[in-house]
Amino acid sequence: MQVGKYQVHSLVTGDYALDGGAMFGVIPKPVWERNNPADSRNRVTLMTRSLLLLSDSRKILIDTGMGGNWDERSLDRYQVNNIPDPLTSFGITAADITDVLLTHLHFDHTGGSTIIENGKLIPAYPNARYYVQRNNFRWAHNPTERDKGSYIKEYFEPLAREGVLIPIDDDVDMLDDEIEVIQFNGHTYGQQLFRIFDDTVNVFFGSDLFPFSEHINLPTIMSYDLQPLITLQEKKEILPRIMEQEWILHFYHDPFHAGAKIEKTEKGFKVKEFIDDI
Ligand SMILES: [Zn+2]
Repeated sequence: MQVGKYQVHSLVTGDYALDGGAMFGVIPKPVWERNNPADSRNRVTLMTRSLLLLSDSRKILIDTGMGGNWDERSLDRYQVNNIPDPLTSFGITAADITDVLLTHLHFDHTGGSTIIENGKLIPAYPNARYYVQRNNFRWAHNPTERDKGSYIKEYFEPLAREGVLIPIDDDVDMLDDEIEVIQFNGHTYGQQLFRIFDDTVNVFFGSDLFPFSEHINLPTIMSYDLQPLITLQEKKEILPRIMEQEWILHFYHDPFHAGAKIEKTEKGFKVKEFIDDI
């Protein structure tokens, strides 16, 4: 889909599995498993759906998926499936990417940022600069016991060492006037989400604020979130804007749908129509 000067594409880099209870928080299993059947280990399937923005001068990738640097134990735990070279279907290679926008440094959003070469982790996009919020960059280096399993330093420290991981502040207009950066702090500290927009179309990258379409529902909040009541507040603030301006909400993890437009009901917000051809 065309948004301003960008061709915008949803790009599936792979899928993996996480505990269904953790994905849906306080929502009871009989409710969430209607759409998301759990496997024998209570896991549900998650996609990693990046967003690719292509213009003449820039090739931008938002989030990089799980990547291939997983040992046998983790492969079994997370059931990681990576799609080989997903960029080739758009006629480009990793070397063409100019900017990588990382919503935050959790392993399922940044694992694909590096590759192994000669036993060493190096940037997977050799000509790109990577951007993350300074708040998240700081937090990722010193997480708590509760969330340190989500931050694997080996996946972002090589970028920092090479000088290509740039910490930014949310008021920085670092790309251009068609990409708005908004910072959220409920899921983790300094998660940055992006709105790509022109006069008629808005695409909002929901990342871990709206991982599945089900998370439009206000009480559906992942157990991973550090500050679930802040997540609730953040959803209450952004959802009216998404609805009124008819943004396309993009789902990074939804196993079935790339995006949706939403509507309001007496009970809250829900999907108005799914948009799969992003
Ligand atoms: Zn996350």
